[in-house]
Amino acid sequence: MSEILVTNNLCKAYNKKNVVENVTISIPKGSIYGLIGRNGAGKTTIMKILAGMIKPTSGDYSYDGQKNGSPEFFGKIGSLLETPAFVPTLSAHDNLKLKCIAYGVKGNVEAYIADLLNIVGLGNVGSKKVSNFSLGMKQRLGIALALVGDPEFLLLDEPINGLDPQGIADIRNLIKKLNSEKGTTILISSHILEELSKVMTDYAIIERGIIVDSGTTGSLHKKCKDQVVIKTRDAEGMKIALQKVGITDYEFDGRGSFRVDGYLDNVDELNTKLVNENGKINSIFISESNLEEYFLETISRARK
Ligand code: ADP
Repeated sequence: MSEILVTNNLCKAYNKKNVVENVTISIPKGSIYGLIGRNGAGKTTIMKILAGMIKPTSGDYSYDGQKNGSPEFFGKIGSLLETPAFVPTLSAHDNLKLKCIAYGVKGNVEAYIADLLNIVGLGNVGSKKVSNFSLGMKQRLGIALALVGDPEFLLLDEPINGLDPQGIADIRNLIKKLNSEKGTTILISSHILEELSKVMTDYAIIERGIIVDSGTTGSLHKKCKDQVVIKTRDAEGMKIALQKVGITDYEFDGRGSFRVDGYLDNVDELNTKLVNENGKINSIFISESNLEEYFLETISRARK
């Protein structure tokens, strides 16, 4: 798969402090690329740079092999960053019409608007004013507005923030539909890895402006594999026992819990070995590390 967007050491500083630091990512054409980080990690700043709203302090990015900056470049991008710019006293249809006029959409504009309303699931809202829309409906209209001009690349900043479970599921389905039916490449940010993992094909985790992990969603699931957890009241004794058993690559929580790779099929054997080396075991069990744990562990490792 070729790349649609590549960034090269993007940096953005405010008051001489980098809030985005040397961000180099490659977004494959046709992917749903998840940018995951806590609040304040730098996600919106990256999105704003890519949407041309702010300039990077240094570094650059290219779209389909062309350097950023031209009107043609931004013509290929649709974005929903922060609160969508609606006219609240108008209907969804009329808000879309306004944007179609501004973008000079040619041909059958009414059919074009009807298509957009259908694709985002607002096909039957009629003349209801946007001020009376729920948050989920506003998000969907925001996405419809971002789709005016048929962008190849869509930037969605925290589109599920504040939505109820049904609203989240609706946006997720919409994203999948846009990606599969229109072939739109989508860069989507969230602070909830678990939610994005259900739609994204690729990901990057950002912490304090730095990309601390990235890859395909498949590789992420492999990294979140099951592990053996050993709990003890004698951590120092357990460290020695683990070493004697030949396990040096373990995670230790600093108190009394160790996570070990391997031995998933023979925990009893590991148990016996550790006891034979005077390891004092309170409990030993297999735990499936979930995505959210992985996310928190990844960012806390990056903070050390
Ligand atoms: P996220 O989208 O991940 O929540 P942001 O990109 O909005 O994070 O913010 C990253 C950091 O940059 C935060 O510490 C934020 O306070 C800071 N920041 C964002 N915009 C500005 C600005 N215009 N001036 C100063 N600091 C800013």
